[in-house]
Amino acid sequence: MNVNRFVPVSTTIKSGFFRAYQDLTYREILPYQWRALNDEIDDAPDSHSVENFRIAAGKSTGEFNGMAFQDSDLAKWLEAAGHSLANAQRDPSFPKEVREKLEEWVRSAVEVVASAQQPDGYLDTFFTVKAPDHKWSNLREAHELYCAGHMMEAAVAVYEGTGDRTLLDVVSRLADHIGSVFGTETGKKRGYPGHQEIELALMKLYRLTNEKRFFDLATFFIDERGRKPVYFDVEAQSERFYPVWGFDRDHEYHQAHLPVREQRDAVGHSVRAMYQYIAMADIALENGDRELADACRALWTSTTERRMYVTGGIGSSRHGERFTTDYDLPNDTAYAETCAAIGLFIFANRMARLDNEARYADVAERALFNGILSGLSLDGTRYFYVNPLEVVPAVCDTNGTYRHVKYRRQSWYGCACCPPNVARLLASLGTYVSRAAGDTLYVDLYCNGVVSAPLSSGTFELEQSGNYPWDGAISIRVTDAPAGAVSLALRVPAWCRTPSLRVNGDEIPIDSISEKGYARLERVWNAGDEVVLDLPMPVEVVSADPKVKADFGRVALQRGPIVYCLEEVDNGKDLHTIALAEDPAFRVEHRKQLLGGVTVVEARGTRTSAAQSSSAPLYRQESFSPSLEETTLTFIPYYAWANRDPGEMTVWVSAPR
Ligand SMILES: [Zn+2]
Repeated sequence: MNVNRFVPVSTTIKSGFFRAYQDLTYREILPYQWRALNDEIDDAPDSHSVENFRIAAGKSTGEFNGMAFQDSDLAKWLEAAGHSLANAQRDPSFPKEVREKLEEWVRSAVEVVASAQQPDGYLDTFFTVKAPDHKWSNLREAHELYCAGHMMEAAVAVYEGTGDRTLLDVVSRLADHIGSVFGTETGKKRGYPGHQEIELALMKLYRLTNEKRFFDLATFFIDERGRKPVYFDVEAQSERFYPVWGFDRDHEYHQAHLPVREQRDAVGHSVRAMYQYIAMADIALENGDRELADACRALWTSTTERRMYVTGGIGSSRHGERFTTDYDLPNDTAYAETCAAIGLFIFANRMARLDNEARYADVAERALFNGILSGLSLDGTRYFYVNPLEVVPAVCDTNGTYRHVKYRRQSWYGCACCPPNVARLLASLGTYVSRAAGDTLYVDLYCNGVVSAPLSSGTFELEQSGNYPWDGAISIRVTDAPAGAVSLALRVPAWCRTPSLRVNGDEIPIDSISEKGYARLERVWNAGDEVVLDLPMPVEVVSADPKVKADFGRVALQRGPIVYCLEEVDNGKDLHTIALAEDPAFRVEHRKQLLGGVTVVEARGTRTSAAQSSSAPLYRQESFSPSLEETTLTFIPYYAWANRDPGEMTVWVSAPR
């Protein structure tokens, strides 16, 4: 058996930073989004997502409304609710009235979804309501397989959270219907989704049910992509073709330009790319497919070493929400869709499972604490789709180039993929904290929680505690362990220069036990053993590869996993005229009352004084020699920006002048 095979391990997060986000999810985010999906929020665009299912089920009359993939919004919400209910099962402190309310909403949503399913298993309200004679005629644009995938992920989560099989039965019938339409056998379509998602969802369904036909269908979709002639060109010639948007996207946009095993550069729509790479890694994990694993490694390198923002955001261009070329990472026109950072986070988890290298979880952590959390307001009810690293509000308001860049989070979106995606990720965070591989328990993320992990030789139970991400001292207490020796492998983040480790008070040199970025402790463990990992987190000055034009001559601040930014509300306007001082004399302070409790960094800096003057001529006949004023700069965590008065923001500031 492949020792790295996907073993589900779930950490119950009990307190601290992530628990606050999980509490926010069930207390605020899920109720708010349920109202949004039911069109009950006055200042938000109508979703129509639930109503579309009601119309498709014949319970209501009217027209389909929204995007072709509107079904997926409800599916992602259902998945988030399922994860929250799974958390509730493990946590006696979960409020009963919240659980009952969630269960009631889930029941009503599952009922309407189930009743919208067609007798042959087909499920997609766009075509059922709008174009029943054109099902499966436009895979490139129509998102039927994408929506099916999200409903499969929802079904797995709802089953795990409630034990109710209704939705699982619905998606099993749907998967079997899809399997009757697509395949290599004569008479079947050799198509694949225009937006990847069903591949990774089928892998989830397979892992839950152990039904090999779901694995085979996932593998079929992955292997068909990019074969010549490209299926999207073939289907477009058919008389049944049903145009949805009429965009003529190139094949790279859909990652259909090459067979996936030959793909090496991260190209095209970034969310599509991530979902594909996740499925490729899932398949490689299951069957040991080396070609797929090698392609994943190359695509990982392309994504994270040449095409990723310091915040973990990816997909730098608004046009096609896509990757462009190496080192093209503009800060002000950045796209960096929240969903893409979420995709990268999950891809990192799969790569960590494949190779057991800590560098993958380093990227997961970067994306999570920065480019993902920035997609959500601190009260849980406002969202960013686009996550810029620099804004000037007046420019966003007037220059069409920046039309996609918002400086206030929005109540909802016509294309609302990101809000429920954040919800499902936060609710499922416990599944990304630790991994079991053979007789090793890997800890990838730090938080306050308990885990019971099935290792080959028995159950290994731990409790981790601390005040991460504000403090790097992490305590891990063993509560139960197998009789023989097993390994505990703790990620030592690459951002930490001086980590140290003690076991039951004895210092152990990390270098002596370091393996692929993890500190690996192999021994016979007893209940009560305590490991203390100390990760000192001084403020670090970060610079980018000089090939990144947008960051040339500039620096960013990072402390632990948190990337910082300057906001106008703390530092005044014209943030581009600010530079860090040669001796910044960083001062770190945790402010409980600010932005939900954040550690703020103060630094000495300089500001170009001419910027303050309104009488200066626009151009002058002299070389650039600004007169500088000293100033104190206040940096806040990037994820928490845009929660106060709107204004300028920047992550990168000029290097000392
Ligand atoms: Zn999105």
